[in-house]
Amino acid sequence: MPSAEIIAVGTELLTPDKSDTNSLWLTSKLNEIGVEVKLKTVVGDDPLRLEEAISDAYKRSDLVITTGGLGPTEDDITRACGAAAIGKELVFHEELLEELKHKFKAFGYEMPERNRQQAYLIEGAKVLPNPNGSAVGMMHYTGGKALVLLPGPPREMKPMFSDHVLPTMAEDFDGVVVLRQSLRVTGLGESKLDEIISPIYTAFKNPVTSTLFSRTDIEVQLTATAATKEEAESLNNELAKKIAGKLGDSVFSMNGEPMEVVVGRMLLEKGKSLAVAESCTGGLVSKRLTDVPGSSGFLLEGCVTYSNNAKMARLGVPSMTLDSHGAVSAETAEAMAVGMRETAGSDVAVSITGIAGPGGGTEGKPVGTVFVGYADTESVFSKRLHLPGDRNLVRWRSSQAALDCVRRQLL
Ligand code: AMP
Ligand code: MG
Repeated sequence: MPSAEIIAVGTELLTPDKSDTNSLWLTSKLNEIGVEVKLKTVVGDDPLRLEEAISDAYKRSDLVITTGGLGPTEDDITRACGAAAIGKELVFHEELLEELKHKFKAFGYEMPERNRQQAYLIEGAKVLPNPNGSAVGMMHYTGGKALVLLPGPPREMKPMFSDHVLPTMAEDFDGVVVLRQSLRVTGLGESKLDEIISPIYTAFKNPVTSTLFSRTDIEVQLTATAATKEEAESLNNELAKKIAGKLGDSVFSMNGEPMEVVVGRMLLEKGKSLAVAESCTGGLVSKRLTDVPGSSGFLLEGCVTYSNNAKMARLGVPSMTLDSHGAVSAETAEAMAVGMRETAGSDVAVSITGIAGPGGGTEGKPVGTVFVGYADTESVFSKRLHLPGDRNLVRWRSSQAALDCVRRQLL
């Protein structure tokens, strides 16, 4: 199997504020064509270290990909360091300069002199066009070894790689295909889940199975290796079906989709509309649902009714209910869902009220006590949850439980 290394270039990637996501995306694409990523490096805009990193990587690996540092500024040094690392010159390309000038003109600007450096390519490298920015990429490819320089912004890097690098690599590196499939599971603890499914997956050497615990659910990741994509897909599918068969309704996605996408699609398929009333999640469920393109097709309204007054005025929760049961109670959650459904005119409504913490817990209702309410044309009910975690986790898990409640009703 051919080996690859990825070098993410940029001083901002060495700060606590910005992470290198390009390499994650590149890794998944490379795996699809059977190229394994053996090492990843993050280097600042530091010429000595960058040249050394590229040069070392080029000695070890069949394919070296850098992202970032192809811009027009002083700190954009990947071009020069890449050339030096493999002992090549940078060559000026008049046609690239003309193209650059043209791009600037199209936006009504004169090309700044600084951008001139973007018309230089490593001697012998092929140009990788960039329809989304000024920096072209390049691919230097000889004797089964490739050095590929890509721009840093993901919206420029991704299409360049998919359209101009991947096809060449797929043809030339005729390795095996490594394909991942994720099942997403909710409502089960990690050890319980493993107890149920380990007798199934341990019987399989290929795909390899791993379980990953995230803030709201468990991902069961299957990784198949095969000669073709179709073969790998069918290996994954076979095991995925066996696992899903054992887990039943707890599996909400067979292909890694998040809960909000699954719920949105189910609502659309059933032609049902949804409204959401939220207290302790402060709009998180609405946020997640509206992250899904086309959410206007199923979501009518979301209300953040945080105070008792808002619950009464906006949703018509009776003051008696709040007085005798409290804002965090099954009765309030149900009244919120009923009121939300009525005022929004939706088919379905879901509500959340709970104690996210760190303060506000009592002996009877400790931090993490959350009620999810549900109302549709036929039924009204609520669920009491006790969710572990800090404020952020309790809110996330509450949003997941509310979405999952809608999902299970739609099944
Ligand atoms: P550059 O091509 O170095 O000028 O990078 C431009 C911008 O792309 C940076 O400011 C980042 O926002 C983004 N970027 C660069 N490298 C990465 C990376 N490895 N992962 C995610 N974003 C990146
Ligand atoms: Mg940079």
